[in-house]
Amino acid sequence: ETEDIKEKLSKMIELMDGFKASKVLFTASKLRVFDVLRSSKTGELQAEDVAQGIKASLKGTERLLEACVSLGLLQRTGKEYANTAMSRHFLLSDGPLSLQGYIQHCNELVWPLFTHLETAVREGTNQHEKAFGKTSDNLFQDAYYSRHEVKLRFMKAMHSIAKVSGRDVATAFDLSKYKTACDLGGCTGAMAYEFAKAHPGLSVTMFDLPEVIEMSGHFRPHDADDRVSFVAGDFFKDELPKADVYILARILHDWSDEKVHILLSKIAKACNPGCCVLVSEIFLDEDRKGPSRGLLQALSMTEGRQRSASEYSLLLKSHGFTSAQIKHTHNLLDAILCVTE
Ligand code: SAM
Repeated sequence: ETEDIKEKLSKMIELMDGFKASKVLFTASKLRVFDVLRSSKTGELQAEDVAQGIKASLKGTERLLEACVSLGLLQRTGKEYANTAMSRHFLLSDGPLSLQGYIQHCNELVWPLFTHLETAVREGTNQHEKAFGKTSDNLFQDAYYSRHEVKLRFMKAMHSIAKVSGRDVATAFDLSKYKTACDLGGCTGAMAYEFAKAHPGLSVTMFDLPEVIEMSGHFRPHDADDRVSFVAGDFFKDELPKADVYILARILHDWSDEKVHILLSKIAKACNPGCCVLVSEIFLDEDRKGPSRGLLQALSMTEGRQRSASEYSLLLKSHGFTSAQIKHTHNLLDAILCVTE
């Protein structure tokens, strides 16, 4: 009984302190603590040197470094601090699996939204206007893309998640019989390049709003594959490029069922028999009891919603996309593939 209470208490404490841990991660990332440690000759530094490197007070830096050690973000031997394997993988700004972009998005955009969670719950709305003083009917064009640095930050966030999850999504299904794919709302092209890499016979057209396409050079990989091309347009209004496979990665969760139907019916019209749609999202458990990653994300959504694999499958089926294959990747995004008859 007492053991049980203690276990519950420690879970409670973890939940109560969760926001502090997140903010420590965001702040250490923003101040480039992990990059500064990496750039030292030995990979180790004392608190004074880190403080100098991040241009911060010694007292504050010491507290931050100690908190990072307790969270497994840093390790300390004597007075020397160093990155852990986890931070080397995910927290260096130029690492291939860097989550820096997404972490800064959480810090600058999601955090302010969550400070208004109570109102968001009372009103059933996203708190973008309260947090940033701006109305946004169209989340992307009004809120994200109207200022250059906000657009770049959003794109870096999408880029980092796509880099971490892209390979698992791209290899989730056998696509060897298809020649062309179109990544609708493909953002920086990171996912499109992963598909091209995973499928040597596939050419991929990356389709997104003009504001996004104009930035594609910024995210072009060094070894960019020329089977990836870029087309600007609005997937609700403009004609969609012809393709055998339509990829919708983290697109449908942003929209109401009504808008999803508009988009899927446009894809169905553009499709020839045998074409398929690959949807990649966090799939909620069928009983909507998890994963909490998906359910927590839903709290700051505008008109979208999180769905289970069978909900996606039903939406797709109503536009003639059947024989769903579902893949739980155990990465950040799962995937479902449906084919037209
Ligand atoms: N698919 C990418 C990925 O998984 O990394 C990005 C997902 S992001 C959440 C949504 C993308 O949809 C953004 O790149 C956004 O610009 C694009 N988008 C939003 N509305 C659009 C529209 N009407 N037409 C084309 N693209 C749109």
